[in-house]
Amino acid sequence: MSTVELGPRARRALDAICDTFAPGGEGLPAATELGVPEALLELVARNPRAAERKQVGQLLGLWDTRLIAAVAGGGLRSFSSLSQADREKILLSWADSRLPQRRAAFQALRKGSLLAYYGRNGDNPVLRAMGYPGALGPPESPPPPSIAPLELSGDTELECDVVIVGSGAGGGTAAAVLAGAGLDVVVIEAGGYYSEKDFDGDELAGFSRLYMNAGGVASHDGSIGLLAGSCLGGGTVVNYTFSFRTPEHVRREWASMGVPGIDSPAFDESLDAVWERISVNEEHSIPSARDDAVRRGLDRLGWDSQVMKRNVRGCREEVCRLCHFGCQLGAKQSTLKTWLQDAYDGGARILVDTRADRVLVENGAARGVEARSGAGHRVIVRARAVVSAAGALQTPALLARSGVRSKALGKHLRLHPVMVVWGQMDEELRPWEGMLSATFSDQHADMDGNGYGIKYEHVATPPSILLTFSPWRGGRAHQELMQALPHTAGIGILLRDHGRGEVRVGRDGEPVVRYAFTDEDIDHLRRGLWGGAQLVEAMGARVIYSSHSKWVAYEPGRRGDRAGFIDAADACGWGAGQAQPISFHIMGSARMGGSERDSVCDPSGQTWSVRDLYVCDGSAFPTATGVNPMVTIEALAHMTARGLAERLR
Ligand SMILES: Cc1cc2nc3c(=O)[nH]c(=O)nc-3n(C[C@H](O)[C@H](O)[C@H](O)COP(=O)(O)OP(=O)(O)OC[C@H]3O[C@@H](n4cnc5c(N)ncnc54)[C@H](O)[C@@H]3O)c2cc1C
Ligand code: SF4
Repeated sequence: MSTVELGPRARRALDAICDTFAPGGEGLPAATELGVPEALLELVARNPRAAERKQVGQLLGLWDTRLIAAVAGGGLRSFSSLSQADREKILLSWADSRLPQRRAAFQALRKGSLLAYYGRNGDNPVLRAMGYPGALGPPESPPPPSIAPLELSGDTELECDVVIVGSGAGGGTAAAVLAGAGLDVVVIEAGGYYSEKDFDGDELAGFSRLYMNAGGVASHDGSIGLLAGSCLGGGTVVNYTFSFRTPEHVRREWASMGVPGIDSPAFDESLDAVWERISVNEEHSIPSARDDAVRRGLDRLGWDSQVMKRNVRGCREEVCRLCHFGCQLGAKQSTLKTWLQDAYDGGARILVDTRADRVLVENGAARGVEARSGAGHRVIVRARAVVSAAGALQTPALLARSGVRSKALGKHLRLHPVMVVWGQMDEELRPWEGMLSATFSDQHADMDGNGYGIKYEHVATPPSILLTFSPWRGGRAHQELMQALPHTAGIGILLRDHGRGEVRVGRDGEPVVRYAFTDEDIDHLRRGLWGGAQLVEAMGARVIYSSHSKWVAYEPGRRGDRAGFIDAADACGWGAGQAQPISFHIMGSARMGGSERDSVCDPSGQTWSVRDLYVCDGSAFPTATGVNPMVTIEALAHMTARGLAERLR
């Protein structure tokens, strides 16, 4: 495993920072005793941006100088020589700083340290103390891998009809449709190939192997975290399997933006094909203790309460809880188990650990892809057409690196920012148990009469989810928060945003995201926070807090109230490093539309400026769906690929 080398002063600083975040005590080890700094450096090494890796080294190199402590009121002593209380004061001064860069640095250090502390799923005394059983361990008799990726022994040139970059929801589906139409297909995937035998549920290893940048992607100022899968099967391998057909009002909205096909029977056909191929059903949605509590709350309030539909076959809630890191039962109907397998069985060739650098454009038409394998081999795939399905962060970067000219490229990024309202209950819920979720509510899904608002969802909660979405206000206080996990239930507030986001490409060719909430988005989030608190209260919570960076909380009937809760949220702020949202759904950055002026692709999915270059992933969405997007991405890719197959036959 690669790591980042630090000098002695920087290393001293890192050790002291990790131990301040997780000091241990009361029989629990401190972070350094668990090897947290080493694990954190391994996570940093997974960041492909050399400039950001260097920044970490520089920050740590400066951290232990007297100056930093003095500026933060710690006197003329180095950070590592201060007491825990004084070190906490310095870290909190960064958390609450007026400078967004400091808040972002604090949040990155907080998440990395705590993930490395709680994510070590081997024999970890910290997890044992909270009653959390840790990783599942390797499965007993996993099936052998059913796909054999191409092995490259040197620089390679291939020819085919269509080369597809990315193998997630969009790329996997497009591959199956095109191979099924008798076309010769090559799929290029930057991540590795992992199957049932590899899915042991370990959180730290799972993030490293299966997520983009080991789960550490964020906007440039840390205003929002972004989670995306990066492995064969992309996001569909790590996602929660919540399946929604594209809502009718979204279809009408997109049709009115120049994409009439979305509101046509052809799109219904693609939706039906996806629904069937990935086996969406509600029979597996057996309520867990979490679901029982959520349903009880929804019933008490008289709110909308619906059964979650999921793309699973043979999902078993009694052995599960860790969809987040791949399904060792093979129950999740990811593209790995469905479309990619179909494509492979139909003759498609699949390259893994291979990153596409650029699309080869000749006389205004896409004629192939240039890529590089993990071992450093140069790969050229010549083709009659190219499909970009690298996801809504990487597709605009790939297109920009390839010289695609479009004013709309990277603009119109749309997200579903998620915040969480947590409730600590008397009842032991063991919220990690059971399948991902069997319940959701659309009570406030339409707050403005145009289909924009909040969806309430909840998921199985291993420590990594709680620590990611909770405040750190001191080592001991945070330890208590984490140790209360067995009695904690979270309600996710998922916003359909109006978007003020953009994906630019940095000088190093990597995507750089800018994002801020609109005023309407903040209004919807505030109302969602209020609704989430109402729900958690109706579930019987004694202490209610939000995922803001400060302690935004109340204790129903004892201390504070809901109005004070919202006031505290406003006082904490909605900016970078304050509200701490994360988006699991990334959309719109190379969108389809009716005009070249404000879209990247025409209604058939082909880019306006380069012939034979198609986009088949979440970036093609004209706006956010407001529902979890996998089924829509697959259906749109299905329809686009059907059109492309027709053209090429
Ligand atoms: C933890 C999590 C839970 C989620 N839960 C749900 C859910 O329950 N329901 C739902 O509907 N949605 C869910 N989603 C969202 C859903 O999985 C994604 O929206 C969807 O997978 C995106 O599809 P995509 O085709 O746009 O990209 P992805 O599925 O992200 O696939 C893109 C692929 O391209 C590869 N790639 C990128 N750049 C390159 C390159 N240059 N060369 C080669 N390959 C490249 C990546 O490695 C990746 O594998 C979840 C997402 C996450 C992260
Ligand atoms: S919840 Fe079901 S689909 Fe998800 S990992 Fe567990 S068994 Fe697999």
